[in-house]
Amino acid sequence: MDLNKAYKKIKNKLPDDVKLVAVSKTKTVSDIRKVYNLGHRDFGENKVQELNSKQKELPEDINWHMIGHLQTNKVKYIAPYVSLIHSVDRLKVLKEINKRAKQNNRTINCLLQIHIAEEETKFGLNYQESVELLESEQYKKMQNVKIIGLMGMATFTENTKQIKREFENLRKIFISLKEKYFTDSQLFKELSMGMSADYEIALQYGATMVRVGSLIFGKRE
Ligand SMILES: *Cc1c(COP(=O)(O)O)cnc(C)c1O
Repeated sequence: MDLNKAYKKIKNKLPDDVKLVAVSKTKTVSDIRKVYNLGHRDFGENKVQELNSKQKELPEDINWHMIGHLQTNKVKYIAPYVSLIHSVDRLKVLKEINKRAKQNNRTINCLLQIHIAEEETKFGLNYQESVELLESEQYKKMQNVKIIGLMGMATFTENTKQIKREFENLRKIFISLKEKYFTDSQLFKELSMGMSADYEIALQYGATMVRVGSLIFGKRE
């Protein structure tokens, strides 16, 4: 299917208040431009170097989403422009984001990445670790980051029941953290969950953002 058709097909399935992050990792600048020219502005990448080089070549009004594991020593490269970091999985990296945001005179929006999958390899905090982060004195002092929600990835499986269970778990964690730590803040409202294979399930469990790559751009090598 061509890019335009694939993009429009997904857009038509999404409610207006759900944000589509078009995941363009490994895809060319020219492919991104095609989707940009349809009016799309939110793109996601998982590697700092690739994100940086694409950001330089593409229009300034793109909202760039960092969705991959982020090494502390690379935060400085994306801090000047990144729109949302989905993959905050430890206090140390949040501290660095805060520091670099401050140097750039801005506030950077972040999501805490929660580990919901069975696979060992997927990054993320568990519930207790996210509580510890939010209760830490270091976090409370940070003035240049805003945590606006959570991100999670379900297990890569055909087992729909399991995927549902994992998204439901993420939604429960979201509600619980919101009640505990964000009652007087309107900011904590984003739930980034769902990829090409499971975004329709994620919508049933309250996703406000879906991160879709291969369904739009085609399979990756
Ligand atoms: C690659 C990636 C996606 C998109 O994956 P598709 O299956 O191609 O839609 C979403 N989220 C993260 C964190 C990714 O790394």
